[in-house]
Amino acid sequence: MSALAGGSLEAAKAASKLAYPQDAPPATGEAIEIAPGVLWARLPLPFRLDHINLYFLDDGDGWAVIDAGIASQPAKEAWDRLLAGPLRGRRLTRLVVTHAHPDHIGLAGWLTERFDIPLLASQTAYLECLSTSLDPGRLEARVYTDFYRRNGLDDETNKRLSTLGHGYLRMITTLPSTFQRLVAGDRLRIGGRDFAVLSGDGHSPEQIMLHDEAARVLIVADQVLAKISPNVSVSPVDPQGDPLGLYLRSLTALRRDVARETLVLAGHGLPFFGLHQRVDQLIAHHEARCAALFEACRAGPRAPSQLLGVIFPRELDPHQMGFAFNELLAHINAMLRLGSLKLAPAKAGATQVVAAL
Ligand SMILES: [Zn+2]
Ligand SMILES: [Zn+2]
Repeated sequence: MSALAGGSLEAAKAASKLAYPQDAPPATGEAIEIAPGVLWARLPLPFRLDHINLYFLDDGDGWAVIDAGIASQPAKEAWDRLLAGPLRGRRLTRLVVTHAHPDHIGLAGWLTERFDIPLLASQTAYLECLSTSLDPGRLEARVYTDFYRRNGLDDETNKRLSTLGHGYLRMITTLPSTFQRLVAGDRLRIGGRDFAVLSGDGHSPEQIMLHDEAARVLIVADQVLAKISPNVSVSPVDPQGDPLGLYLRSLTALRRDVARETLVLAGHGLPFFGLHQRVDQLIAHHEARCAALFEACRAGPRAPSQLLGVIFPRELDPHQMGFAFNELLAHINAMLRLGSLKLAPAKAGATQVVAAL
């Protein structure tokens, strides 16, 4: 069996608890000073995960903004309340977008145009969002339906996934025609803070994180969340990709490079202390899932679609289904690379996997 199979989620859970400097989030339109010169606010999302965190960093005569929110009317209204409330009296200086997911980049075009401020992002996030806004129809292209069919999804589920399941990807505004590229290894000065620019893969390619080593503050985006295991998905346009391997690599780097006592400001959920514990929990979580898939495949070849219930036993709506199915494939691809699963002979065009004993 591989190094990925056989972790103990319970042991990691029991080992330690996270600590939360605030036990409740700010109400819509309000903000909490979560660290000196750092405001924390929330915008609504129309999903089961019903919010995203925004952060505002003191930037001299104004606020630098971390993430923009999804393109929806309620999110714009929440922005107006923030601007008339806690942000009143100071300008916005620039927008940093952490990654290409619409809940973070969706309103970037709207915001940068409205306030005439620069957009800072990774090249990958910028180009990914730009390509979707230039060609939204590509999300229903054959590459997606073929991908799901090949992995054993029935036609009806496949159709719901490629339409409803991908609908949220269109909740974006058109990006400005220029941006300022952030690259891992850069230093970024914002007000009195000097951040190291980090990037991590697995949840979203080249996701940007900002690390103030001196003050021990990490803006971690969606790479590490306190309660939720961040989604790690295979993209249908990179069907053999190994986002789980990249994700685990990034978690290991964060644990190595960021001090244990650091305040973690995440894209969802509560800010927390306990990065190292949370990284250990997430690694154990994925190891446990790989172990469960390994067990399920020992009995004989399975199509990926037959394995979904092994790691996602509850009922899923089309939005969740897209994340869940592509995350299942992330585990399968990681195990194929490590040799704990192998491809089994199957009908033409279909995929089956079997545990390598
Ligand atoms: Zn995300
Ligand atoms: Zn997010």
